[in-house]
Amino acid sequence: MPRMEDARAALKRLFGFDDFRGKQAEVVARVLRGESTLGVMPTGAGKSLTYQLPAAILPGTAVVVSPLIALMHDQLRSARANGIRAATLTSVDADWRETIAAFRAGDLDLLYVAPERASQAGFRALLAEGRLSLFAIDEAHCVSEWGHDFRPDYRQLRPLMDAFAAVPRLALTATADRQTRADVLAQFGIPEEGLILAGFDRPNIRYAIRQRDNAARQIAALMAEQPGPGIVYAPTRAKTEGLAQQIASATGRPVLPYHAGLDPGTRAANQAAFVASEDMVVVATVAFGMGIDKPDVRFVAHAGVPKSIETYYQETGRAGRDGDPAQAVMLWAASDLATARQRLAEVPEDRRAGERARLDALGALIETAECRRAVLLRHFGEDPPPACGNCDTCLDKPGVIDATELARKLLSAAYRTGQSFGIGHLAKVLTGAEDDRVRGRGHDRLSVFGIVGGEEAALLQPLARALQARGALVANAHGGLALGGDARAILSGSSAVEIVVPARRMRRRGRGTINPTDDPLFEALRALRRDLAKEAGVPPYVIFHDSVLRELAQTKPQSRADLARIGGIGARKLEAYGGALLTVIRQY
Ligand code: ADP
Ligand code: ZN
Repeated sequence: MPRMEDARAALKRLFGFDDFRGKQAEVVARVLRGESTLGVMPTGAGKSLTYQLPAAILPGTAVVVSPLIALMHDQLRSARANGIRAATLTSVDADWRETIAAFRAGDLDLLYVAPERASQAGFRALLAEGRLSLFAIDEAHCVSEWGHDFRPDYRQLRPLMDAFAAVPRLALTATADRQTRADVLAQFGIPEEGLILAGFDRPNIRYAIRQRDNAARQIAALMAEQPGPGIVYAPTRAKTEGLAQQIASATGRPVLPYHAGLDPGTRAANQAAFVASEDMVVVATVAFGMGIDKPDVRFVAHAGVPKSIETYYQETGRAGRDGDPAQAVMLWAASDLATARQRLAEVPEDRRAGERARLDALGALIETAECRRAVLLRHFGEDPPPACGNCDTCLDKPGVIDATELARKLLSAAYRTGQSFGIGHLAKVLTGAEDDRVRGRGHDRLSVFGIVGGEEAALLQPLARALQARGALVANAHGGLALGGDARAILSGSSAVEIVVPARRMRRRGRGTINPTDDPLFEALRALRRDLAKEAGVPPYVIFHDSVLRELAQTKPQSRADLARIGGIGARKLEAYGGALLTVIRQY
């Protein structure tokens, strides 16, 4: 049996890495001891290495179950680029005969299959003809109905694995709350002590949530700071198309739309172009992202509020998998939350309370004056430090105003005018404006007429937004505001209201990249990487990550031995690209 020393040697030899990251070592150690494990690790933590590495050094083949063909092919490319013997067995693979022969002969480290195939009798019979080292199950939360993408096929994996009871199991997921985790353990027959939980934090992602005034302009400004690839999420198909056009013409950058309304060919082509690109931005509906493992996404922007904190975290998690600095920017408007709250009425009654709680949590994240990361991590049950230093509220502390009194005035104005007027009208009533519509409705005779003075009047708009974010005011389809949530508690004085006044943003215009912008060697290495990628028919990041190019440009290695010391250059890549790298480096 290989031990951890062997694993460390293989880490350097195959992947070129000097150290395991986070919980990787714990997971790998368990797998090598033949113990079944559930690893819950955030995106970018390096989950694939925890089965690829044992697969490469254990005798026999690891069967990897993965839900998406695109994801499998991505993994296949990366594994092969590191010299690991891998194959996929899917409906689109023409080389299945070779794959089966290689498996029988014991010449495969990794065999990727979809859960549908894994549950077929023929596949079980095939596995019995070879030697197995491990069952690895990616996106393991799919087995649970508590998780957010239940896939019934995952339930068929247990009988298959039980038929090979001596083979250890490694289930992996980035998203599983307590209930889902317990369920996954039970469904796959993994002992409780086999749960390895890494923290949820993604320290290299900078979170920011801003009021939306002009999404296209705000995203173009973000792109000006950020030259790398990015994803923009927009709520509708029409908006993805419109935004894509606007930001393309504003920035001159390559920008493509992606949504379910495009024909499959265009969609696949747009996705492939994005994956291969070093500077493209995709404007997409939520249909985009699942199954994309692009490590060098530098920003994820939301042009409207996401559905929940869970989806927000999953979507923003697609930024910065390579560990380099990345940004997550949400642009929100009170109307987004108003629409979402209106839709609650259509949700079946048994799920409505849960959906409302999701929206409240999202509203609280948006409205907070506290550290965004702390709010997010607490949502996932962690106990983070109160400030992270890498989110908008930590970097530019917003002001907080006690607006309880004013909130009571606004809520009673909404109530007394019949809960059907928007903030514009309510503000006129409260400030005692001379207005025909106010007079025509007799609202100038209400007790709330003219009870808000000059300075306070300026706070009515942000207050209305804050009350909507927390659900105390609920807008109808025409913008009319009705009382909801804890409005009554606020009116009776038992609930307080604070509003957050964003700090005047210091222009933190620093380059959004840590790549050198004026180093000719770095640029030459990038050009070489593009050529090598084209030749191999893979995206540039499969050849090397930016961090490898940076280290090369900085340390200018002059020999193969020097190259081998760089993180991210394993034996296979040294052999394949070492000569070309040295040739380029020696010219500078
Ligand atoms: P996940 O599947 O957990 O989202 P990946 O397996 O895609 O993460 O890994 C994310 C990135 O981290 C990959 O580009 C990988 O090369 C890199 N990585 C993984 N393990 C290490 C390590 N020990 N040291 C340095 N980089 C690593
Ligand atoms: Zn913070």
